[in-house]
Order: sequence, then structure tokens, then C-alpha cells
Amino acid sequence: MTELFQHKARKRFGQNFLHDAGVIDKILRAIRPRPEDRLLEIGPGQGALTEGLLSSDAQLDVVELDKDLIPILIHQFGSKPNFHLHQGDALKFDFTSLDAAPSSLRVVGNLPYNISTPLIFLLLRNAGLIRDMHFMLQKEVVQRMAAGPGGGDYGRLSIMVQYHCRVEHLFNVGPGAFNPPPKVDSAIVRLVPHEVLPHPAKDHRALERVVREAFNQRRKTLRNTLKALLSNDEIIAAGVDGSLRPEQLDLAAFVRLADKLSDQPVAE
Ligand code: SAM
Repeated sequence: MTELFQHKARKRFGQNFLHDAGVIDKILRAIRPRPEDRLLEIGPGQGALTEGLLSSDAQLDVVELDKDLIPILIHQFGSKPNFHLHQGDALKFDFTSLDAAPSSLRVVGNLPYNISTPLIFLLLRNAGLIRDMHFMLQKEVVQRMAAGPGGGDYGRLSIMVQYHCRVEHLFNVGPGAFNPPPKVDSAIVRLVPHEVLPHPAKDHRALERVVREAFNQRRKTLRNTLKALLSNDEIIAAGVDGSLRPEQLDLAAFVRLADKLSDQPVAE
């Protein structure tokens, strides 16, 4: 990087830039970009991953919020015909504007940790466009995504991510790989949207409601937390024991509860 382009990392944009060549290489090998791929990178920053993604010859769109990074990215990659830069907020980005074929987009990012959960929920709503996603996240968030029923990590994020995707916790990355180093450990996760949903809900918004409500008070029984949505009889009819706590239910059981909610007659 030349003196002209010295950039001071900004906390409010969640900027922790990758500088460890070994880690960058390991991430790129996990992604394995191919020339025929359609890649989307969220938050390219100073281009740590961008460089390797572009050298695959795949078409790469990047979305970067920090205006000060735009000249750096243009200086480095502006002459490459497969580089397409969008300045703006990934949370407001219209993924359909990319005109990508169904199940084609490969989304990548060392995500700003402050927006990672809402961004992933947004991407899940566009799961039909996506082939796979590789993200650097806080290790604790990856553990929550991959968790099964029964433990403290299992919750809303696990269920909603696993409803749409297969989750693979690939490897962990220590703070020293970044500049500045974050206070927490990080991990790389691969999310692959299911071709056919294993437990399709009649209405996924009903699933979101039931799951949000159930985990609002995770220490309480389902009978208690879901009181405003479902009667005890409806819970029993869904084949669920209302005296259980939400963390004891698997995805299939949450979908049955959501379907009971969808079956309720709409109030006049
Ligand atoms: N990919 C680079 C790397 O690995 O070194 C930078 C990673 S840094 C953790 C996160 C990047 O996301 C920063 O460049 C930051 O400016 C950008 N960013 C933060 N919020 C964003 C948003 N809402 N939309 C798009 N980019 C964002």
C-alpha cells in the first residue's frame, strides 16, 4: 500500500483487516473460486481476500460501505474487467439487482461483526439465489449457528440458519491474523442452502415468530413462552411437550409449532 492510501481502521465499520498470508490462503482454498463462478464479497476492505478471488477469473461484485476505501479498491483492482464495485451498505443492498441465476451466487466476507447477524438473516431471505457462503465471524457466532438442541449455544440463530442451510464450522482464526486484532476469536463457516428444505414450514414468517417468541425467555417452558401464540392444546396437537424448554426442541418440532400457528383462522 502506498503512503497516499494509508487507511486508519475504523471501529464503527467493524474494520479488522486480515494480514496473515497463511490464513488468507487457507480461506481462499476453502472457497475454491472457479472462472465460471459468480462471487459476491461483502466488505472487501483493503482487498485481502479480493485479490485471490479476482485471480480465479470469476466475476466478482463487492459491496463496501466505507467511502475512504473506495479509491484504494479502485487503485488496486479498477483495471480488472471481472471486478464490479458497489459503494454502500450491504444491509440495504438489493441482491436481485445482480441478475444472478438461481442458486448461483457464492457470497464471501470477513464480515464486520456488528452487522453479521442481520446480514445473514437478510441473505437467508435471498437463499434461492445463493449457492454457498463463506464467512469469517466471531467464533461464538459460528458455534451458535452449528449448535444442535440441548446446549446453551442452541437458539434462534441455529434454527433459522439450519432451516435454510447446511452449516460447516471449517476452522478457527486467532486475533493475531488481523490488524487491529479483535478482542475475540474468529472462525470460518460455510453455509450451503439446502436444494430441498428438509423441514419446510407452511409459512417461514410463522417459524420466525415462534422461534423468536420461544427464545425470548429461554429458561421458561414452551407452554409459558408461546402462550400469546399457541394454546397448550395446539402445542400438544403439534406433538410437542409444552413442559419442555425451547432449547430441547429440534427444528422439525419448531416447524410443527409454526404450522399450527399458520393453521389458525385469521381474525376478522
Ligand atoms: N475483507 C477485508 C479483510 O478481510 O481484511 C475487510 C474485513 S473488515 C472485518 C469488514 C469490512 O466491511 C470493512 O472493510 C468495512 O468497512 C466493511 N463494512 C462495514 N459495514 C459494512 C456494511 N454495512 N456494508 C458493507 N461493508 C461494510
